[in-house]
Amino acid sequence: MSDILFIIDAGHAISTPGKRSPDGEREWTFNNEIASGFEARMIQYKDAKVERVDDRTGVVDVALAERVKKAVNLGGKAYISFHHNAYLGVWGSHGGTETFTKVNPNAASLALANAVHPALVKGYGLRDRGIKHTNWQVINHHHMPAVLIEGGFMDSTTDIQVLRKKEKLRTAGALVADAVAKHYSLVLKTKTELQTTQTKNRTYKIVSGDTLWSISQKYNVPVKQLEMNNPEVIPHNLQIGALLYIDRVALNSMDSNDSNSIKSLGTIEIHNLDNFTYIYEKTTDKSKKMGKTMKGDKFEISGSVEGWWEVIFNNRRSYVKEEYGKLI
Ligand SMILES: [Zn+2]
Repeated sequence: MSDILFIIDAGHAISTPGKRSPDGEREWTFNNEIASGFEARMIQYKDAKVERVDDRTGVVDVALAERVKKAVNLGGKAYISFHHNAYLGVWGSHGGTETFTKVNPNAASLALANAVHPALVKGYGLRDRGIKHTNWQVINHHHMPAVLIEGGFMDSTTDIQVLRKKEKLRTAGALVADAVAKHYSLVLKTKTELQTTQTKNRTYKIVSGDTLWSISQKYNVPVKQLEMNNPEVIPHNLQIGALLYIDRVALNSMDSNDSNSIKSLGTIEIHNLDNFTYIYEKTTDKSKKMGKTMKGDKFEISGSVEGWWEVIFNNRRSYVKEEYGKLI
């Protein structure tokens, strides 16, 4: 099977006027988290590739027409643009998540929106404002199914609590990736295959005399990987003491011999039951029971598929019915 390419962007650049919370937090920083969460999860699917058509460092505000053109030239399967909303730019009690397609979308775009939106609502846990239609440039075309996500309001006193939690945004991105993968019938890579795209969760603190090149040599990873993994540090803040992620997104298989390669994307707590429920091997209650779990138990999750939470249990992917877990 040939590669399936998903095109994403994280909205605006860091410096784009407006596009910030009343406290001055930049929309890009929120957008970049969910986009990164999407990318990290999506590349765990077989044949899935992700290309960002914005500047992943957030410095350059790539023209919208240029993004669409690049997406078309690359042969994107779908376009997903990650944004966060604002109402009047002053704190208020409004809020919620919404998913946009163009006005009079074709069936493919609408189907993508229908697939993505519930994952977004689940990931943020905010008010559901539904699927809407506007002719914004990155979605106003029929080249490929295209949606623009507004993950919550930066000027909402309730939404901002969620937006300030990086892990929450990352998880939302991962859940959107799961929903998109399911929509296109993708399957997860096996553990062995995963080892070719993931390594350990290493970090490195910059010391005097370091360059990106020297760090890339030290860890045997491409410079581009360091850039991808550290948009908030490179190139703005490459100074002594800054922390770099080495493997948040891994570009290739170099030096991986770690078998514990399933990444946690967040945590759920078991609820909604009096007694216990089972942890299953697959996403069906006819599959093997791997264990029991009770109200109040907590699990790291690696994703969410077809009404099930994918939990990391004894170092492998296992499944708990979605209704019995809530994201915390
Ligand atoms: Zn925006």
